[in-house]
Amino acid sequence: MKNCIACGMPMNNAADFAMNDESKDYCIYCAREDGTMKSFEEAKASMTGFIIKTQGLAHEAAESAALSMMKKLPAWESNFAE
Ligand SMILES: [Zn+2]
Repeated sequence: MKNCIACGMPMNNAADFAMNDESKDYCIYCAREDGTMKSFEEAKASMTGFIIKTQGLAHEAAESAALSMMKKLPAWESNFAE
């Protein structure tokens, strides 16, 4: 089992992977329609929207929660490097 490098979601079967391709390191939610991985900004926007929807936070609070989650994920390491 792998975890998505961009959102941390566990990927248990092919349907969880981008393009149903188990050799990918990111999940279907972190892929664009063409199968490439979302950019930092795109991932941040979709994670922020997800947090607003699931936790009912205001935009600013949801965005900072999204950033603190992304900080722990390997895909965005370079975005947080100083
Ligand atoms: Zn993902």
